[in-house]
Parts: sequence; structure tokens; C-alpha cells
Amino acid sequence: MSHAIPFAEHGVSRDGISYGAKRVTDGLQAAGFKAYVVGGAVRDLLLKRDPKDFDVATDATPEEVKRVFRRAHIIGRRFRLVHVMFGQETVEVSTFRRALEAEEAQTDAHGRILRDNEFGNMEQDAARRDFTANGLFYDPTTQEIFDYHHGVDDVRANVLRMIGDPATRYREDPVRMLRAVRLSAKLGMTIDPATAQPIFGMKELLSNVPEARLLDEMLKLLLSGHAVECIKKLRAMHLHHGLLPMLDVILEQPMGERFVMLALENTDQRIRDDKPTSPAFLFAALLWHEVLTVWNKRMESGERSLPALNEAMEIVLERQRKKLAIPRRYDVTMKELWLLQPRLEQRSGQRPYRLLEQPRFRGAYDFLVLRCRSGEADAELGEWWDEFQDASDERRAEMLMPDN
Ligand code: ATP
Ligand code: MG
Repeated sequence: MSHAIPFAEHGVSRDGISYGAKRVTDGLQAAGFKAYVVGGAVRDLLLKRDPKDFDVATDATPEEVKRVFRRAHIIGRRFRLVHVMFGQETVEVSTFRRALEAEEAQTDAHGRILRDNEFGNMEQDAARRDFTANGLFYDPTTQEIFDYHHGVDDVRANVLRMIGDPATRYREDPVRMLRAVRLSAKLGMTIDPATAQPIFGMKELLSNVPEARLLDEMLKLLLSGHAVECIKKLRAMHLHHGLLPMLDVILEQPMGERFVMLALENTDQRIRDDKPTSPAFLFAALLWHEVLTVWNKRMESGERSLPALNEAMEIVLERQRKKLAIPRRYDVTMKELWLLQPRLEQRSGQRPYRLLEQPRFRGAYDFLVLRCRSGEADAELGEWWDEFQDASDERRAEMLMPDN
């Protein structure tokens, strides 16, 4: 059944494969195993895009993989994978797996797969993957692509098509609905009608997915460089409203929608420009208007500004922790970004100088710029900081506001 496509027909050369991935496939093959670059990287190379990272699939077990390489760690409990490191690069190596037959699989009441870590062969490994474009194997030695599901044709036609029966595959793992939206937006591919159609009737299944996994997928989507497009697509497919708490936060902000969309556009641009972005900055932006609302309410009832802001932050974080499962490790940065906002308004004496020395100044300033652009903060304040940052000592002294 396998369909080996030679280099002359697909044009993906060994040069496109990262140093680490070549070392891994070469090393495993030399030890007598099969080893291929698999998944997103092959798809991206066919599309002439730079793969984000390289995954390798092999018939070696995790223990066997570990024995071949000096710096390799087995990770994960359910799906045991091996991370092989070469300097900065980490290559993820997985052993061929197969999807369990219905009678052996443990599924929840809705058909969602709870366990699928059985080893299998290469063809079975292709069949358990989500889209035909993601089911391709590339051998860097022979420069052949192994294609069991017409993935190469689909990539050429720019079509994202589910392997197997789409409805069954969504039932097994509803997150695939989100992956369809994210990958089609990111890669500019059309979702095949038969792959898109069941989503409308099955979207409710997303409510059975553990919150942490949904957050993971939402983060991938928000940091894909195409967040705005993804959000529009999710909305068009009615995949928001009560199903994706994160999306409700984004789309159902009476006051803050403009701010949130600006933050997402800004993140998209930064990712396309290869500038660093952080989930904490994004979360801080998504929750800012909620913090503002609570903060203002508490000040109206007589609380002083700073204690009121501190309380507001705690209240909002606590509320969102239940709903969105935002991990606690982002709290410190989010709070710093928020707390620095009122401090950016203090423009007299030594305070602006001290603020510039803050490690978080740059992020806080970027945050302020977004607030200005959305109209929530005074444009003049953003312009003042824009100039003050790079001004000469004399000019800075002139710019300081009188103490009061
Ligand atoms: P990206 O470029 O965003 O990393 P990707 O396709 O590589 O896209 P990953 O999440 O890195 O996405 O997954 C790697 C591969 O694992 C996919 O190409 C696909 O073959 C398979 N895969 C990932 N998630 C699923 C899923 N939910 N169901 C089936 N196969 C999946
Ligand atoms: Mg990937």
C-alpha cells in the first residue's frame, strides 16, 4: 500500500533537514532501525516553509533510541517519547504507534480516546495522525517521501483533509477541530468540505476535553502568528461561546474587544518579525479590562488606588484560574505588567529613571502602547515614554513633570 515518492517528484532535499534530525535518522539507521522525519516538518518543507521543529518516527523503542544517543531523555508517562539534544536543538523521537481498535480502546462516554500508546508499524502510525498533510514520512538518506494517504497531492492542492472518517476522528479527539482551524489559518490551506462539515454538529464535544489541554491548544493558536485569522475562523465555525473559555474572554469583552484584538494583531506581527512573545503578556492583555473594571469599582467604594489594584488582580486571577486553567507560573509576570501601568503615569523626580531600570520596563511600555492605541490610555502618555526612553540627559530633565 505504501507509496514511496522519489526526490525528483517532490523536490524535498536532505539539505532542508536540520542538523539534529539528520543526526537522529542517520544514527538510528546505522543501528539497524527505521527512522524518518515525520509530520509538520515534512509538510512545511513541501510548502517551502521553515519547519518550526523536527520530529522523527522510528521502529526503535524509547529505550533503544536512548541507547543510540549520548544526550537523550525519555519523557512523558502516557506517550513515552525521547528528546535527543544537539546543542540548542531538541529532536523529538517517537516510536511508531497504532490507534487501538474500538473494542480495545478505552474511551469516555462520548468516544474520546483515553489511551492509545500501543506500538505499531509505520503504516499504522500514518493512519493515527490527523490530516493527510501531517501523515508523511521523509527518509533523509534516500530523499523519498512515504505517503499512505495522498498527503502530497493534498498539500499541492492546499487542502487540509482528515485521514479516515472525519466524524469518528473528531469524536476520538475533539481537539482536532481546533487543529483544523489553526493549521488552515497558519498554512493558508482550505479545510476540505467533508472535513469541515461535521465540526458544526460536534463542537459540543470540546466541553469534555480537559481544560489544561484546551489551554495548550489555544496557546498554540494564539501564538501561531495568525491569531486574528484563527479567531475569525473559530467565530465563523461557531466554535466559541461557552465552548472555549479563552475565546469567550477574547470575544465577549464589551469594553475591551478593541484592546484584545490590537494585542493579538501585535503578537501576530511580533511572531512574523521573529521577535519574542510571551504567553504571560498575552494573558495580561486578555484580562486587563476585567482587572480595570474590578479596580475601578473598588476605588469608587473608597479604597486607595494601589491596594485596590492589588485586590483586583488577585480576584481576576482567581476567577480565571478556575475558568481558563492559566498556570500559576505566569502570575508574577502578569502582575508586574499590570502594576507597572499606574507607575508609568508618575513622571516626576527620580521615578521615571527608576522605572527605566526595571527589567520589565520594555514589556510594560509595550503594554501601555497598546492601551493608548485602543483609546483607553492617553496617547500623550505613550508618546512621552517613547521620547523619554531615548532622550539625552538634558532633554530628559526638561521632560520631567513638576512634583506634586
Ligand atoms: P506545527 O507546525 O504547529 O508544530 P504540527 O502538525 O507539527 O504543526 P504538532 O502538534 O507538532 O503539530 O504535532 C506533530 C504531529 O503529530 C502532527 O503533524 C500530526 O501528525 C500528529 N498529531 C498531533 N496532534 C494530533 C492529534 N490530536 N491527532 C492526531 N495526530 C496528531
Ligand atoms: Mg510540530
